[in-house]
Amino acid sequence: MGRFDSFAAPLAVGRAPVVTEPPDTPQDHLRALPAVHRLATAVARAELAERRTALLDGHVPSHDVVTGARERLRPSLRRVLNATGVVVHTNLGRAPLAPAARAAVAAAARGYANVELDLHTGARGSRHDHVAGLLCQLTGAQAALAVNNGAAAVLLAVAALADPGSEVVVSRGHLIEIGGGFRIPDVIAQAGAALVEVGTTNRTRAADYRAAMGERTAALLRVHPSNFRTLGFTEEVPVEAMCKLGPPVIDDVGSGVLADLELLGDEPAVRRSVRAGAAITCFSGDKLLGGPQAGLLVGTRNAIGRCACHPLARAMRIDKLSLAALEATLALYRDPEAVRSEIPVLAMLDAPAEVLAARARRLADLAAGEVVDAVARVGGGALPLLELEGPAVALDPGPDGADALAKALRMGDPAVVARIAGGRVLLDPRTLADDELDAAGAAVHAARG
Ligand SMILES: *Cc1c(COP(=O)(O)O)cnc(C)c1O
Repeated sequence: MGRFDSFAAPLAVGRAPVVTEPPDTPQDHLRALPAVHRLATAVARAELAERRTALLDGHVPSHDVVTGARERLRPSLRRVLNATGVVVHTNLGRAPLAPAARAAVAAAARGYANVELDLHTGARGSRHDHVAGLLCQLTGAQAALAVNNGAAAVLLAVAALADPGSEVVVSRGHLIEIGGGFRIPDVIAQAGAALVEVGTTNRTRAADYRAAMGERTAALLRVHPSNFRTLGFTEEVPVEAMCKLGPPVIDDVGSGVLADLELLGDEPAVRRSVRAGAAITCFSGDKLLGGPQAGLLVGTRNAIGRCACHPLARAMRIDKLSLAALEATLALYRDPEAVRSEIPVLAMLDAPAEVLAARARRLADLAAGEVVDAVARVGGGALPLLELEGPAVALDPGPDGADALAKALRMGDPAVVARIAGGRVLLDPRTLADDELDAAGAAVHAARG
């Protein structure tokens, strides 16, 4: 049940159902405000109805009616200041967008766009054309396709290359769960193909794949173990050797590293799989690539063509806002120098020690905290072993303890999500922008107040 169910209806009454210009001036915004009595009545009704239901069910709400009404007026999806130090935080929406990508989203949201129209010919175009050229240029692939997330890209790749009844060969070391219950054996089953497991959890050789290959083999699938590592007595077949085995190779590289950053060296580069000859390489748009949620497939003309005309492609299609952000993000990759500073995820990972130190000192002043040494993580199921050392601001938890302070910070406006270590609340400056520090400082005082 939506929180605004009984709130939206009465407010909509009396609104002219005509197409109007979006409000622009402060006066327009003021005129668009609802009358006090209508707003108050709608909110009070919804709050009281919920209370009545709760009381009848035997629950006594812990907050008072006014707090409940105030909470009801706040949007559910809110701005959050990420003070966790986890750069690609899935719970916090992963990658913040570059300024150019934000501008592209705003422009696409504002009116109409040539999403599926070829402006030269006036004929119907493909939404994929807006990013396919850039993706090919950046990865060296012949063809490319964008869908709504990385999981969709993997499912589509397997479904398009493996007809029902055919076999997909996977190393036991690659039969992983990515998160949210997305497990490779289930994905292959959903695609209608049969899974053929080869090798062991820690060691798989080319001979294992060769022994399993036969007439019904549709593809060899590799999956990057993004969120964990097997260490010690391990062996894997490199993508180059796998591509020489014969059947088409699908390489799910997970994060989508397009930049040449030393720090990202442990993650598989998209270009490497393309150069090796993988039929399809899949990766996410909003992990280390630093763009919007999207799933990207690059590869041979034939394999990508099969993906594009598969019925699932329509069910997974990318929306125009993500497409706008993706095109703008990819365009930044044309300039290797701009990438490090313009893409927020890469800028945060690559932040110089003196920048972090200065930010930590300012934050400590604003929040009345103390600068301590700490370790941040990449997050988003990438580089799980990488520890990013840097300063953090430790807050004295006060009489109610660290959990209570962390909760008060989360419930504030703006919400601040911090990390708790050693009984103290830590604010990590790596994932805060310079222009967020004042707000973070004020939020700490409000949470304590
Ligand atoms: C993250 C990940 C996915 C899923 O991508 P989403 O964009 O989260 O849907 C698939 N495969 C691997 C190896 C991943 O790391």
